[in-house]
Amino acid sequence: MKRQIHLLGATGSIGEQTLDVIRSHPEHFELVSMAFGSNLDKGAAAAEEFRPSLIACFDEPTAQELRQRLRYKPEITVGSDGLHACAEAGKPGDVLVNAVMGSVGLGPTLKAIEKGIDIAIANKETLVTAGHLVMAAQKKTGVRLAPVDSEHSAIAQCLHGEKKDVSKLILTASGGSFRDRTRKELEGVKVEEALNHPNWSMGAKITIDSATMMNKGLEVIEAHWLFDQPYDNIDVILHKESIIHSMVEYVDGSVLAHLGTPDMRVPIQYALTEPSRLAVSGSERLKLWEVGALHFQPMDYERFRALQLAIDAGRTGGSATAVLNAANEQAVALFLDNKMTFLDIDRVVERALERHNVISEPSLEDIQSVDQEIREEIIRTYA
Ligand code: NDP
Ligand code: MG
Repeated sequence: MKRQIHLLGATGSIGEQTLDVIRSHPEHFELVSMAFGSNLDKGAAAAEEFRPSLIACFDEPTAQELRQRLRYKPEITVGSDGLHACAEAGKPGDVLVNAVMGSVGLGPTLKAIEKGIDIAIANKETLVTAGHLVMAAQKKTGVRLAPVDSEHSAIAQCLHGEKKDVSKLILTASGGSFRDRTRKELEGVKVEEALNHPNWSMGAKITIDSATMMNKGLEVIEAHWLFDQPYDNIDVILHKESIIHSMVEYVDGSVLAHLGTPDMRVPIQYALTEPSRLAVSGSERLKLWEVGALHFQPMDYERFRALQLAIDAGRTGGSATAVLNAANEQAVALFLDNKMTFLDIDRVVERALERHNVISEPSLEDIQSVDQEIREEIIRTYA
């Protein structure tokens, strides 16, 4: 039977690669609903090719233009109601691939879990802002929550569904576009330089997060929730080749690692098929003799300040990680808009965390209002 897929963020980097996976295996997967923001060219092309019966887009003008472009008549909805409609359109056994960027992904994730729909989660901001709510909902309904992030997919595969006898999760970090620069050398760097990632081609926000190393910080928090491990058991090491996607160390000192060439279609597809596997067409095979050597370095937490801030926020818990995420999303948006310097990103996040009175068990409403307040404050100061 075909797996019915609901895809949020269909026009993004993960979204397009998810469509590629569906395209390669029409006998296994079918796109039933999809959501995108305002990229009409990509959105309309995906809709025509896959003919989902329900589509959500950012706003009414985009929806009107989409209706005119399409040669068939799907139901079209807009805004966050539209995202929720796609998330709730499925039935138990379907899967929601959540590949929107940012905390806007939280509401739809919770809605889908409540309906018993499995989740393939790329949208790490969901777990960072409200991991306690997502994991509690997942436990209640028993849906599958499969990671798409390459590090977490690697860890899940090394763990094989077991939590027993684990002593450490070891996340690898490529170092991003500025790996070899000192903090001093980061003064005045341009947006285009920061967007130039050495190993992965990704959306703009996550590429900047990789350069600040906030991405790895968000991933530590994501790993804490997904694998139920305390922060003391989660390490990060620098591994510039991005060949080892992550590792698990066991109490006897054995370390299991997951290796492969950097290709996000592999973890995306595995999140849809696990524990089975299918071929990934055109994916380059790993030839270790060509790679020659793999390199590792301990992390420098002063150089990569954002990583330390994220781990500290994770340890604080409660609303601190929602503050971290909202401040970072807003700061990165302002940097991409040339309204903030690269080094300001860490500073803005740190200041937001310092000023916040932590709510220890925040509700969804608490998280949404903290998220909004933090963004508004940063916009008032910088935009
Ligand atoms: P992109 O920026 O490439 O894509 C984001 C997608 O979300 C686009 O389809 C965009 O639509 C849509 N979108 C954004 N805001 C809204 C909104 N308010 N309503 C509806 N749709 C919206 O991001 P990525 O694909 O790179 O990343 C997506 C998520 O996956 C992030 O959480 C990221 O951290 C995570 N991730 C990404 C990886 C990668 O390799 N790219 C690796 C691991 C995790 P549009 O463009 O049409 O406006
Ligand atoms: Mg990752």
